Amino acid sequence: MSSAPPSFGKADALASVEKLHSRSLGANAWSWRYIVLRRLTQFGFLLLFFGSAHWGWQVAKNVPLLRGNLSASMFIGLIPLTDPFATLQIFLTGHVLRQESLIGAAIVLGFYLLIGGRVFCAWVCPVNVVTDASGWLRDKLGIRAVIHLPRALRYFVLAATLLISAVSGLAAFEWVSPIGMAHREIIFGLGMGFTALLAIFLFDLLILKNGWCGHLCPLGAFYSLVGKSALLRVRFDKNTCTRCGECASVCPEPQVLNLKKLDERGYVFSGECSNCGRCSPICPEGSLKFDFKPLIRSHNVQADAIAVQRRTK
Ligand code: SF4
Ligand code: SF4
Repeated sequence: MSSAPPSFGKADALASVEKLHSRSLGANAWSWRYIVLRRLTQFGFLLLFFGSAHWGWQVAKNVPLLRGNLSASMFIGLIPLTDPFATLQIFLTGHVLRQESLIGAAIVLGFYLLIGGRVFCAWVCPVNVVTDASGWLRDKLGIRAVIHLPRALRYFVLAATLLISAVSGLAAFEWVSPIGMAHREIIFGLGMGFTALLAIFLFDLLILKNGWCGHLCPLGAFYSLVGKSALLRVRFDKNTCTRCGECASVCPEPQVLNLKKLDERGYVFSGECSNCGRCSPICPEGSLKFDFKPLIRSHNVQADAIAVQRRTK
């Protein structure tokens, strides 16, 4: 049985905030590591698509390095990668799915089941660059929410998308997806992708913080469900957390950092966490770290034992 968390007071929380603000320049720079890595992977994927389409990047004659788009692509001419949500929509339209699409969807689904569904959102999706920028500017300008929407709304949008696909015979989200539109315009200069990105930027900036990704996007909702059983999680150490709240203030999905639930579970349980890595480096007490689920329990039992020892000394 796990021990009760130590009772930290307001002074401890303030000391944590003070500790965060008095970090050295080097420590501050190091705290940017995940965001730098995320931008590298996001732009890296776009570069692979762009280089293959325009600069002839190929692994052999007529075999592009990465052909296609974020819904369906082929890596090195051998490995199909298909968006499982797009595959599900096409399945519901009644169209016959090609074996290659099914294999590609299984590969992508398997990968995200291991590392977290919404890793796609924070580490791959180009829209995230725009919504992060909008959220940052919104905080700087101190803009308040114009409307409040429940975060569960995205699951209704997801259900509606699947229903419309089944009834209309068209993969509904694929026709209007700002992710696909952005990708088409960035890589091929086609369509209204930049207009869609601008609309999302303004919506998130002026109307609702994290409005698109955190409330409406059906692909994010789909990946939240996939992420429920993911192995890679943010581990939580209740013995060191002083309840300063700094983690929730930078998290794009702050509801996943409910401290009561974190105490009970010992890790961020919700699939809505995108494993973006913002909370971990900001935490002044080092209470949040990435870890694999099978290792978290034993780590937390050990941390509890050390904390009990310290308290009884
Ligand atoms: S886990 Fe969050 S609330 Fe707890 S000490 Fe770290 S930043 Fe503060
Ligand atoms: S809990 Fe941490 S890793 Fe998960 S979404 Fe929030 S800031 Fe990102």
